[in-house]
Amino acid sequence: MNREIEKKKRYIIALDQGTTSSRVVIFDNYGKVVTIVQKEFKQIYPRPGWVEHDPMEIYASQSSVMIEAIAQCGIRPYHIQAVGITNQRETTIVWDKNTGKPIYNAILWQCRRTAPIIEQTIKDGLSDYIIKTTGLIPDAYFSATKIKWILDHVEGARAKAEKGDLLFGTVDTWLMWKLTNGRVFATDYTNASRTMLYDIVNLRWDKKLCDYYKIPMKMLPEVKPSSSIFGTMRIFDTEVPIAGVAGDQQAALFGQTCFAPGEMKNTYGTGCFLLMNIGNKICHSKNGLVTTIAASSVDGKPDYALEGSVFVGGALIQWLRDEMHFILDAVDSEYFAIKSESNNGVYMVPAFTGLGAPYWDMYSRGTIFGLTRGTTRENIIRACLESIAYQVNDLATAMSKDTNQPITSLKVDGGASKNSFLMQFQSDITNTKVIRCQTKETTALGAAFLAGLAVGTWKNKEELKKLYSIDSIFEPHMENKLRKRYLYKWHKAVKMCRGWDDDSDLDE
Ligand code: ADP
Repeated sequence: MNREIEKKKRYIIALDQGTTSSRVVIFDNYGKVVTIVQKEFKQIYPRPGWVEHDPMEIYASQSSVMIEAIAQCGIRPYHIQAVGITNQRETTIVWDKNTGKPIYNAILWQCRRTAPIIEQTIKDGLSDYIIKTTGLIPDAYFSATKIKWILDHVEGARAKAEKGDLLFGTVDTWLMWKLTNGRVFATDYTNASRTMLYDIVNLRWDKKLCDYYKIPMKMLPEVKPSSSIFGTMRIFDTEVPIAGVAGDQQAALFGQTCFAPGEMKNTYGTGCFLLMNIGNKICHSKNGLVTTIAASSVDGKPDYALEGSVFVGGALIQWLRDEMHFILDAVDSEYFAIKSESNNGVYMVPAFTGLGAPYWDMYSRGTIFGLTRGTTRENIIRACLESIAYQVNDLATAMSKDTNQPITSLKVDGGASKNSFLMQFQSDITNTKVIRCQTKETTALGAAFLAGLAVGTWKNKEELKKLYSIDSIFEPHMENKLRKRYLYKWHKAVKMCRGWDDDSDLDE
């Protein structure tokens, strides 16, 4: 190979440790994907509502896919400039620092076993304190109650933790500790901000919350900016810096280059995750959204983000396919929605598990409104797709109100963002430009960008912006009057499905 070309080759490895699989994406210095390798691993459901992973399997699958990816594309270890890590958030691992072994399985973000601890927290009057300090709404989702559960239920754990023998980490911390042979015990701001123990205003672990949950502070990792040198790991014969770490949603926000306040991205997966960069001033939502730390580059104080999620997004299309048998493949939903020509007065509220922000109603249930003798399967498919856009629009509008910022554009990724009908409707309803980028790998790209910035692969955010390539832009063309009418009907539908599952007034 020509020596000059050989010298210019530079790669960043992104480890993308997700809920169902461990993935590795290798990027070149133009931000282009060179190789992707992924491996699924076991989901453990010990009881209804409980979800766990084996931390050793997380580590083993992640390191084996990394070796496979490097071998597959034939790059040399000395061409790898840095490693970035992005991960499923909130998932909690506690291990013994002397043996290197976890004392319990990883308790997943989805796991509801600690809901009673949260009920007690609320009864004890800590809600406002938690919201103000951590930016989060008290929930079993976040790590704090999961750590407490492990310390309460594993024999001898609390005594060991007090002695300083146990360490806690989210998945990024666990992976870094394993990959560096225990030399690095750290996390980044974004992951720390999902534990419900981290003070996002003063950027430190919060003593009052640690004391309340009886979590010794010596268990907690050092917290660093997402784009910084965390340490080095050995890849074959070369020491490579781990230089970027961020939780998956914040990594995607960074990968979508949403660097300025007001910029937002939505991931259309099974559920949807909308995040808006709000700059370096904290804003507490009045609409039930959480405030979290956004991935930061080396240049100082972190940015914050508002975050909201839609419980049922792409899952609704799976429901149309698997339960209703209206379509054979998710991709067919676009064809039928277009064939339908209009919604024909049909509105779907997919409140299968209640409604999240900005409604927070656990008693609402999925409901279809406006059925007539003439309603067709196509109308219902269209109404389902439209309902995804309405829900995302409700979140975007709440963020815009909370921050007093107009919505300037919406960047999109995730499986259902491939649906151009949905993207055009999103643009029309939210009355904003919807930008779909070329790479599907925005989460991994975010981790790579963070790592590359720290080691000088890229100089600054402007350079990263230039690497961002657009697949399509959807411009709004719906008339105001029509948009207003659609939104009026949608909100009417939401209002009418609320409280359905609350039977407390039943006289039995
Ligand atoms: P996750 O990461 O949550 O598993 P993905 O980003 O892989 O999700 O997206 C998968 C989801 O997107 C599924 O729920 C699927 O129904 C939906 N989906 C995939 N392709 C389309 C499409 N063309 N139109 C609508 N929904 C789609």
